[in-house]
Amino acid sequence: MTVTFLDDLRSALGPGALLTDPADCARYLTDWTGAYTGTALAVVRPASTEAVAETLRLCAAAGVAITPQGGNTGLAGGGVPLGDRPQILLSLDRMKRIRQIDPAARTATVEAGCVLQQLQEAVAAEGLVFPLMFGARGSCTIGGNLSTNAGGSNVLRYGNTRALCLGIEAVMADGSVVSDLSGLRKDNTGYDLRDLMIGAEGTLGIITAACLRLYPVPVVRTTAFLALRDVASALNVLNRLQDASGGLVEAFEYMPAPMMRLITGYHGKRAPMTQAPETGLLLELASTRADDAAPDADGTPKLQALVIEVLDGLMEDALVEDAVVATSEAQRDALWELREGAAEAVFALKEAYMFDISLPLAAVPGFVAETDAGSRALGFEVYTVAHLGDGNLHCTLATGEEQDWAKLPVETQVASILDRVAALGGSFSAEHGIGQSKLAYMHRYRAAPRLAAMRAIRQALDPAGLMNPGKTIPDL
Ligand SMILES: Cc1cc2nc3c(=O)[nH]c(=O)nc-3n(C[C@H](O)[C@H](O)[C@H](O)COP(=O)(O)OP(=O)(O)OC[C@H]3O[C@@H](n4cnc5c(N)ncnc54)[C@H](O)[C@@H]3O)c2cc1C
Repeated sequence: MTVTFLDDLRSALGPGALLTDPADCARYLTDWTGAYTGTALAVVRPASTEAVAETLRLCAAAGVAITPQGGNTGLAGGGVPLGDRPQILLSLDRMKRIRQIDPAARTATVEAGCVLQQLQEAVAAEGLVFPLMFGARGSCTIGGNLSTNAGGSNVLRYGNTRALCLGIEAVMADGSVVSDLSGLRKDNTGYDLRDLMIGAEGTLGIITAACLRLYPVPVVRTTAFLALRDVASALNVLNRLQDASGGLVEAFEYMPAPMMRLITGYHGKRAPMTQAPETGLLLELASTRADDAAPDADGTPKLQALVIEVLDGLMEDALVEDAVVATSEAQRDALWELREGAAEAVFALKEAYMFDISLPLAAVPGFVAETDAGSRALGFEVYTVAHLGDGNLHCTLATGEEQDWAKLPVETQVASILDRVAALGGSFSAEHGIGQSKLAYMHRYRAAPRLAAMRAIRQALDPAGLMNPGKTIPDL
């Protein structure tokens, strides 16, 4: 069966579309974290939507399952095969085409395998921006971004990937193609398949293309690193900046002292302040108004002058203790390199447990104080970096130099933190998805009717259970 199936695929897709040599397949079969490895009959790399459809038709006929993969930067193990049933890994890495950029409508229609940064560079040439921002943008793909509903540091202003998508083209489990790339802003004609496929982590079909929203490139930015009095001051600081600027805050990133020391140590970089502040915060405002870029009487761009004025007021009120404002692109880049270097520094820790949680904004200060102190009292080091404006915390429990990981109460502390998140009305997975790493938490923290509705949708769209089996929605 396997030989015939692979021969059929090879002759349908043409030479170069199938990898079967273990050496060629290896990099597709282990995830970015190195924690998950799977096996597949072949890595299949279709070059068009029709080739994806033909692949899924052949898989349906042969009962072969499919694990879709984009840039393989996912952090939940969703993009590598799970289990030992016959399956292929379907990589979108040959479908990178930008089909159209429409500068007037401010949309781009791109294939799913297009790397995020490749799209950003192409639209920048048209004076536009696709504002999804995070450290993996040089490798992750639009299809992966949509399938995980990726977030990052600009969600505060532009929303997550779902908010940036006007429509998708997708191949369903039976090989049929649904396409909605017209870029309509309004279309109330029944269930929204786009919204179902976004965040589905490849369990409902393969996204092959998308029509995305673009925004004008800001003409001026102000980037600063602040020492806040405490986390409780953060919302006040954010709101004062938003009110004064008319909502121009693009990023509001919590980088406390232990995290800053970890990043600078790992990457060999200098910190923005000699003494890393306990409550460090990276902030960016951006404007497309020419007047905001114009110099004031001192020659300072007006946006920067406004931010400095607000910061002065916040210092007088003792909400901000210190501030460093970037005065050049190089200084801005240096600040962002530190923020975007956080994930690598954390994943380099040998023994650690990482959370990607979200909380109602008002609950964040109490949660941070309580769980940091509780974890440290048990002997853990705590490294946190957060998209604070969205209430999204990436916390890591690790060992101190003197500690033995095996002797730390990892399971009970993780459970206690996640229970607290649930009690506060938060989510155990804010932006990385479920994949295979968080399946168990779906049972514990998501109510039975919600899981039943998800299973019914999956069963209706993929009755044979071929799409990314074992991922995202736990079995009964
Ligand atoms: C350094 C670093 C920093 C990161 N920072 C962030 C961050 O700030 N915010 C954030 O949200 N994420 C972040 N991530 C996680 C990751 O980059 C995102 O989840 C990203 O969207 C995954 O894209 P990908 O193309 O690599 O997808 P993959 O890893 O290949 O796949 C992810 C999931 O989507 C499915 N999938 C992929 N393509 C398709 C498709 N075309 N159709 C259907 N299903 C598909 C896969 O089966 C899998 O379940 C970070 C990762 C790294 C390594």
